Order: sequence, then C-alpha cells, then structure tokens
Amino acid sequence: MNYIVKRKMIGCFAVFLIVIFGFGFAFTKDLTASTTAPIGITVAIDAGHGGLDGGSVGVSTGITERDLNIVFAKKLTKYLEDLGITVVNTRLDKNGLYKEVTDDYKLVDMKNRADIINNSNAQILVSIHMNKFSDQSQNGAQVFFEQGNEDSKNLAESIKNILTANFENARKLVLAGDYYILNETKPIGVIVECGFLSNPEEEKLLQNDEYQNKMCYSIYCGIINYLGITDTIAEGQYHQI
Ligand SMILES: [Zn+2]
Repeated sequence: MNYIVKRKMIGCFAVFLIVIFGFGFAFTKDLTASTTAPIGITVAIDAGHGGLDGGSVGVSTGITERDLNIVFAKKLTKYLEDLGITVVNTRLDKNGLYKEVTDDYKLVDMKNRADIINNSNAQILVSIHMNKFSDQSQNGAQVFFEQGNEDSKNLAESIKNILTANFENARKLVLAGDYYILNETKPIGVIVECGFLSNPEEEKLLQNDEYQNKMCYSIYCGIINYLGITDTIAEGQYHQI
C-alpha cells in the first residue's frame, strides 16, 4: 500500500503517532521535496566497535554489533543529510580505527574516534551501539548521557522521548555513564543502545530494514527536536518504501 503524509508544521512526534495508529512504520524521504538547510549544524555519528572488536554478537544469527552499527549509522546519516545537516562519521566500513593490532589497539581506536569528532566542529555526537545481557529477556533501546553534563542529559531525554513514543519497549529512563567517547569529546554527546542482540526476538527486529528505519528516524527526530529545528520540509512528503 502506498500512501503519502503531507507535512506542514507538524513535528516528528505527530507524524509517528499517525504512523503508529494507522499506517505502518517505514519511511523514506522524497528527495524531490524542497529543503531548507539548517545552516552550520554538524552532527558526528560514531558507529561503535569495528575491526577485531566486534562488540555484541547476535545470540541466534551471530551478527556482530560492529556490522549492524554501520547500517544504523548510515541510515541516521541520510536522514540528517537530507535535512541539510552536515554529518561526520567516525567509520563507514567494518574496519576499526587503528593501523595495527597492538596490545592497546582499542585505546588507539578510541583516540582516533575522538580526534575525528573533535576536529569536526560538530555540535552533537551520537554513538550507535547494540546491547547485550546475560538474561535474554532484557530488551529495548536505551539512551546514555555523559555523567554530570546537563546538555548531554537533555539531548538523551529528547531522543528517549521519541523512542518511547515509537517503541513500546524502549527504556523510559536515560542513564548516566562514564564513557570515553563522551568524556573525551567536545560535542554534546549521547550513546544510543538500539536494542539487545542477546534477545532473539530483538536481534531479529534489529536486522529488519523497516525497524531500522523507524529507529533511525526516531533518533533523528530526537536530535532535531533538541536543536530546536523544525523540519523545514514544509512541502515535503514521506512515503512508504
Ligand atoms: Zn557497543
């Protein structure tokens, strides 16, 4: 079924309410729609892990967080770029950010990420991850902020608000964390754990294209709401893939 939702001065949240109650979830932007670029906004997107560091591993399919984080990072990048926001990615392939495998290759990787982010002049940083836990029943996306940083907490709340509106199982509390990628970088940053690869059901969903779109679109809405940007695609259209 194809459908079109005209957007005029309605926020992402309202769009998703319509979506949730009536139409399904997957959207792609009509690239013929006119956009007004928010001038000077840069967002850094960090796809967690890479190279030898595969991160969490899917309990049923064995998919790695390393590979899945890239898929989400690319989708989020596209939503932001379509609005005219400049995006800087720390990585866009499966490789880590280190040249050779030394004892401290993970630290080298993290330092290189921080350098890319700090040299980008980005105002916002979103680090994409997938969670895991020994109890396989644990599920749901969750947002983490930099301990003691009120701006980071507000950004986390903004993203969480959209996630909880669109995903029944998204965690309603944002949590403070002591993370290198947040502590050592200049932009207002958060970590989004998109779901649990240790939960077989969620592992499957996280590999579903429409589910990924819905998740990334929600993160996108959380970011632009925080920035106070009205989606300026006044004549824009969204349609089902
Ligand atoms: Zn991770």
